[in-house]
Order: sequence, then structure tokens, then C-alpha cells
Amino acid sequence: MAHEKILVTEDEEKISRIVKSYLEKEGFEVSVASTGTMALETIQKGYDLVILDLMLPDMEGETVCTEIRRFSDVPIIILTAKGSEDERVRGLGLGADDYVVKPFSPRELVARVKAHLRRMMGKDGQVLSYNGGLLKINIPAMEVTRAGIPVDLTKTEFSILLYLAQRAQTVISRAQIISSVMGYEFEGYDRVTDAHIKNIRRKIEENPQEPVFIRTIYGAGYKFVGKTE
Ligand code: CA
Repeated sequence: MAHEKILVTEDEEKISRIVKSYLEKEGFEVSVASTGTMALETIQKGYDLVILDLMLPDMEGETVCTEIRRFSDVPIIILTAKGSEDERVRGLGLGADDYVVKPFSPRELVARVKAHLRRMMGKDGQVLSYNGGLLKINIPAMEVTRAGIPVDLTKTEFSILLYLAQRAQTVISRAQIISSVMGYEFEGYDRVTDAHIKNIRRKIEENPQEPVFIRTIYGAGYKFVGKTE
């Protein structure tokens, strides 16, 4: 599976460097944004988790958090010197998932990152179910069923479907799909991605011409639109 991508939003270089190196040691792919504006731009590329400092030079971390929540349910861990209980509650009220107070132990932060990523992977007891159970993705067994009938996906197709499903309602570019599933980028990824999506649709959609799970977003990529209820 692909390495999870983490965005560290932090203007103090000393801290971002430490956090980055600890996370990289664990195999995560880490990018750093030193301003709120940069974070909001960078996150459009698609991240699995965001670490967010509240005191940024250009805007308040709280605002960044609220803005992220307008378009994404990516886990957000707030990292800040603001440690009073009121401020913690406020951060969580804005849609953050967790709160780590400075000074902090990088190891503890890494442990929390892992816990949140695990939780995200394991939503709905390891079996993701969409459109009233029409499509089910059993993560540990790497099995997919359509209307109760097993669907024969290749490992790559399974990874792509899972990657999209775990980022439901978010537009994912072709380059992003390929680099996160294959672990690298290469020339011609557009056609490779399209070919995989075509195969997945043929297997999971009743009518691949009118997909109800994976939509094409013209000029941008693909979006998983299956509904969990
Ligand atoms: Ca700061």
C-alpha cells in the first residue's frame, strides 16, 4: 500500500523539521506548509492527515481548520502552545480530531498520527458499505462485493477503489491516484489511471456509462460518490 501523506502546517522551522524527520522515519510522506495560505493550497493535492499549528504568521490556525472542513474530512491534529482547556475545546469544536500541546514529545505525536490513520482505515469495522450495502469493501480481507456477489479486482484495482472510497466526495487527480497507489509517478499516468478506473467500473457499476460510485470530474480527476447510509 501507498505511504500515507501528512501535511505539517507550522511556521517554526525547528519544530517542523523535527516533526517531519520523526514522521519520515515511520515511512510517512511529509510536506511542510509554513503559512495558513500555503496549507490551504497544498492540501488540495490530497493528504491523509494534517498537523496544524494554531499560531501562524498570516492567519489563525482556527480559520485554517474551519476552511479545511469546508471541503475535507481529513483528520486534523492541532499542535499548539495554547493549552488551556477552553482553547482545546474550541479547537475540537472547529472540527479538529485531536490536540497536542507544546512542548510535546515527537514520539507521542507520531503515536497519535498512527492512531488517527488507523481509525480512518478501520471506519465501519473494517468493512466499508455503500449505497445500502450494494457495494462492500472488506479492507482486511481485500474483498469487494457487489449486491452480495464477490467482485474479482486486481490488487491495484482494489487499492485504487479503496483509496478513492476513503476520500469519498473529494476530487482526486489522476496523478494522485497513481502515485499514491503505485508509490511513484510516471509518464502516461492519465491513460493508466483511466484504464484502471474503466476496469473497476466494469466490475462494480451496474451501468459503467452511468456510474453511481466513481464519477469522472472533467479536467480534474475522479470522485467516489458512494453513500455510506
Ligand atoms: Ca507558530
